[in-house]
Order: sequence, then structure tokens, then C-alpha cells
Amino acid sequence: MDKLKFYNTLTRKKEELSPLSPPVVTTYSCGPTVYNYAHIGNLRTYVFMDELRRTLKYAGYTTKSVMNITDVGHLTSDGDDGEDKMQTAAKKQNKTPEEIAEFYSKVFFKDLERLHILLPEIIAKATDNIAEMIEFVKGLCDKGYGYETDDGIYFDISKFDGYGKLSRCNIEDALAGARVAVNTQKRHPADFALWKKAEKNHIMQWPSPWGMGYPGWHIECSTMSKKFLGERFDIHTGGVDHIPIHHENEIAQSEALEGHKVVNLWMHGEFMLVDGGKMSKSLGNVYTIDDLISKGYSPLAFRYFCLNTHYRNKLNFTFDGLNGAATAYNRLRSTISACKSAPKADAETAQKVQAQKAAVIAAVYDDLNFPLALGELWTMAKYACREVYDAAVELNDIFALDLHLPQEQVHQDIPDEVKQLADKRFAARKAKDWATSDALRAELDALGYTVLDGKDGYELRIKN
Ligand code: AMP
Ligand code: ZN
Repeated sequence: MDKLKFYNTLTRKKEELSPLSPPVVTTYSCGPTVYNYAHIGNLRTYVFMDELRRTLKYAGYTTKSVMNITDVGHLTSDGDDGEDKMQTAAKKQNKTPEEIAEFYSKVFFKDLERLHILLPEIIAKATDNIAEMIEFVKGLCDKGYGYETDDGIYFDISKFDGYGKLSRCNIEDALAGARVAVNTQKRHPADFALWKKAEKNHIMQWPSPWGMGYPGWHIECSTMSKKFLGERFDIHTGGVDHIPIHHENEIAQSEALEGHKVVNLWMHGEFMLVDGGKMSKSLGNVYTIDDLISKGYSPLAFRYFCLNTHYRNKLNFTFDGLNGAATAYNRLRSTISACKSAPKADAETAQKVQAQKAAVIAAVYDDLNFPLALGELWTMAKYACREVYDAAVELNDIFALDLHLPQEQVHQDIPDEVKQLADKRFAARKAKDWATSDALRAELDALGYTVLDGKDGYELRIKN
């Protein structure tokens, strides 16, 4: 197994990976709350999870990775207020929460596949693990960390030494930051719900020692990581937004129950911004992979765009930026794939290719420095010999960009008028105006383009 270094959010230092039971590395990643389509920011975080898992495998480790699917308990605030996100979506769409979860989980897994994100070995649905969550909460109550109020069971953060260590805020900060409690029975405003008692109109509820209710969002991850990975595991990942509340609370719950450290390494992916700001529905800038496909970009061009910025840096999404990434991706792919039929290099050049390949791997092993690794890959591609192709085939296990395969047609090859025609056809299709849609398809066909329809968008390909 090769040596790997990763940045640990807890210690704020790069550390050499030292797994509990090599060659196995156990990882837990906070998965999606399946009440809506995953946006490109969410997907950036899963590309990061994938970079990590692929790198571990390439380095000779075996991964045992868990990703949860949150299908209950995540309220409209990340705290204890508001409605369950699943229930809100269910009401809006006149469906059951189970139907909502099934629909959006399916779309999510399709997105992962299109981005070449490998599935973690274990996918755990929160609603399949309620009994274990109740046991966990009981355990915390027995140890004096949990207490009951009229509306639920809460974790007493003042009892847990070291609350706030991940985000480096002390308990006073947490108390000052918490909103004035609506629930006056909480001992501290920053105490959080382990279990909530269900009101009558709450759709999802289960019997428990405290009556009918449902789990808090944070207890889900503590419980499922314990169940599948044990009371100690190697790496926990998620987006940076989870540091101050969700992961802080996970640490408090898990360490309070076990009486020792549970996670060795905390890794967090920075946020994706759009046009320099937050993604939000009201700004109309929340994009999905289907949105990008409908504009003619391939999912792998988006993957390249993600890899080109280090996971610990913010990534600002703009269509200009994506265009640039798609052009670079296309060029690198055509250069490398052409090397399949290139002649073998002389001994000296072949050695240089090997040295470049080693530089690519060294960059990745140093806290997943994919931007540097891509730079080294570009240098390697310039040797334009068969050895470059062979190296790229092997490195595809890490990059998953299919750089060794023939060129895809992407956005910048398609003229604006053609894209407009395709947009018009998609609008007609959505409006079930089949005659117009068919006529426009014929027009596109005559111009040399094929349209591939997806559920929420289309892909435009230049006919070969
Ligand atoms: P959620 O489905 O809201 O629980 O989020 C799923 C994952 O996406 C979490 O790991 C979040 O940290 C992450 N996430 C949410 N918004 C963004 C964003 N703008 N950029 C990167 N990651 C994000
Ligand atoms: Zn989580």
C-alpha cells in the first residue's frame, strides 16, 4: 500500500493515513436528503467522495464505504425546527414520502453513474435503521447525555466535554449562536434533538419508548456509521456546511456513547458557488446535471471542471468556466486517445512518460491534489506516444474521465442556432406538441445533429 496524506479538519493538518485495519479503509459519507434533484454543488461533494475512494483503491487499499440516504428527519432548518423536508415535498407533489424518496434516489444514482462516481459498498437508508437509532438514543439517555421534554429527547451539550472541537467554537459561542429557544424546556438553546415526538399530522412516525416519533437528522449518521463500520472508523466526509452543526453533533453523540474517539480523519469538501454567489431557487441558478446536458455539456466535462479545483477551495461555477473546462477536456482527450495508434517511444522518452505518470500519482496522493495532477497529465500527454495511452488507461481508475477513449462531441462544437432549435424542440416536447417537436427534430437531423432525449433534458450529438 502506498503512502497517502490527507488534510484533517479536526487537527487542521495534513496527516499520513494510518488505517485501523489495513488494507481496509472504512469511510462514511453523508448522503443526500432525497426530497429534490441533486444540484451541481451537491454533486461536486460526491465527486470529491469519489476522488477519495478511487485514490484509496489505486493506492492498494480496499474500501469499505458507507453512504446514507436521508429519507426522514432532515428538517427545513438544519436544527430542530420546521417541517421534515420529505414531508414538505410529499405534500407539494401529492405523493407519499416513500414515493418521493424512491423517485429522487433513482435520479441521484443515475447522476452518480453519469459522473462516473463509484457506488460506496454500503448504501444505508435512514428509514431502514430506525430500531438501531432508538437503541442509540436509549444508550445516550442511560449515560445521562439525553433528556426528555414534551416534544422530544435532547442531547445535553454541556455534559459533553469538547463540544465544538471540529469547528473550533466553544460552548459559549454555540450558545450565543443558537437562536432563542422556541422550546423553552431545552436546558441550553444549542442542545439538539435526538428523537422528536410526532405531532398528529406528521406522516412518518415510529413507536419508541417515548411514544410515536421520528429520529433527529444527526442521530441517523452516528447510528448507521456504528452499525456498518463499528465504534471506530477511518474517514468521515461531507460538505463544509456540515462542520458546525451536523458533524459537531455526530461527534458529540458518538463519542458520548462510546467513551472514546470514533472518527480518525474528518475530510470536508468546499462549496460550489454560482456566478460568485450562493445557489438559490429564487435566483434561478440551481443547476442539475440534466440542465448541463441540455445545454450540450457532457457530464465528464463537468467532472473535469470539478477536478480542476482542489476540493478544499471554493469552486465558482460559470458557463464561461465550464466552457473553458469542456474545451480543455476535449483537447486532452483527443490528444491522449490518439496515442493509441501512435508509435512506441524510444527508451529515454518512455522513461520520461513514466516519470510524468509518477508525478501525477504523487500529486493525487498528496491530499488529492487533482488540479496539479491534471497539469502533470497534460505534460505527459505532450510525449504523444503509445506509452502515454497505456498510462492513461491505468490512470483512468483514478480520474475516471475516459481520456483514452475517442472524442465526445461537446458544447463548443455546436453553433448557437442549432442549440436554439434544440431548445425549441425540447420546449415543444415538454408541451406535448409532438408535431412541432418532430418537425424540429427533422430539421436538426438535416443539419447533421441527433437529439437524445432524457427525462429532464436532452443531449445533442453531431452525427458521425
Ligand atoms: P443535502 O442533500 O442537502 O444533505 O446535501 C448533500 C451534500 O451536498 C452535503 O454533503 C452538503 O454538504 C453538500 N452541498 C450542499 N450544497 C453544496 C454546494 N453549494 N457546494 C458543494 N456541496 C454542497
Ligand atoms: Zn451525516
